[in-house]
Amino acid sequence: MTSAGAVVEVGVDLGGTATRVVVRHDDVTVGHTTVTTSDLGKGSPDQRARSLWSVIKDIVSTDMDLSSIGIAASGPIDVRTGIIENADTLEWFSGFNLVGLMAALSGVPVFIENDAVAAAIGEYQHGAGRDAERLLLVTLGTGIGVALLEHGQPFRQFNGQHPDSGHIPVFGDNVICYCGLTGCWEQSASRLALERALSPLHSGEVSPTELISLISAKARGGDEMATEAFVEYGRKVGRGIALLHTVYGPSVTVIGGTVANTFDLFSSGMNQSLTRADGFYLPVDIVRAELGPEAGAIGAAALAKDRSSEKPSVLRKAT
Ligand SMILES: [Zn+2]
Repeated sequence: MTSAGAVVEVGVDLGGTATRVVVRHDDVTVGHTTVTTSDLGKGSPDQRARSLWSVIKDIVSTDMDLSSIGIAASGPIDVRTGIIENADTLEWFSGFNLVGLMAALSGVPVFIENDAVAAAIGEYQHGAGRDAERLLLVTLGTGIGVALLEHGQPFRQFNGQHPDSGHIPVFGDNVICYCGLTGCWEQSASRLALERALSPLHSGEVSPTELISLISAKARGGDEMATEAFVEYGRKVGRGIALLHTVYGPSVTVIGGTVANTFDLFSSGMNQSLTRADGFYLPVDIVRAELGPEAGAIGAAALAKDRSSEKPSVLRKAT
């Protein structure tokens, strides 16, 4: 329980499917909820912001003192304007000033960030990448999310955007990705790609989550085809990580996303792709994420807390 008048921050992780909201006091989660994002997407932009604010109000009790809100959102975000530009998977919250509307409704500063960056900040402050000098976060999900932090600060492109490194072209195939390039990493190494690779190994009707769970149990039981499927998937995961290690030289790489549950099965394949000749060795710790599915929301709350205390604010503060 928090004491009356406790200062809290709220972190929101707007995902294409689910939206997670956490309330944090003294860097501890004191409330959380998960709602279906499409349920928040009804009506005008103003109504959508009101729906989100209503979810937040439900878990911030009236005796708490809300100080700031951080929003993590999937896809490209113009951090200068606070506008989400993800018409592909987050259309309900794209193309309008969500930050401004939320600030007007709540009366507190509101900050926005890419979800991979927010998750990296969460892992940097409270998880597997604590205080890493250079942290690389790779989230294996529907796509592949990547973020790099240097001393806790996100690396960005010249225009302020977070580099969408799931789309580094590391394979020589001719499959055209929805981004327009060919051979994109996430086309072969996302969770969806793993599901495609595993589906021939099971004949019955199962959900994608059950499929990964069933085949990983087979692999842990010694089934050779199941084992090789994960090793081959690991090789593909490693191809992109090898490139990122070469370019960024992180001190710690954190692997997150639901597929990280099978880290024990794909890490040997991944390490094959990361093996370098003597003289090219890179000392990088590769570890599993610790914060689980709430990493993005926890990171969003942490960045809201940090940025609302910055003077002058170098990142967007809604007015
Ligand atoms: Zn692509």
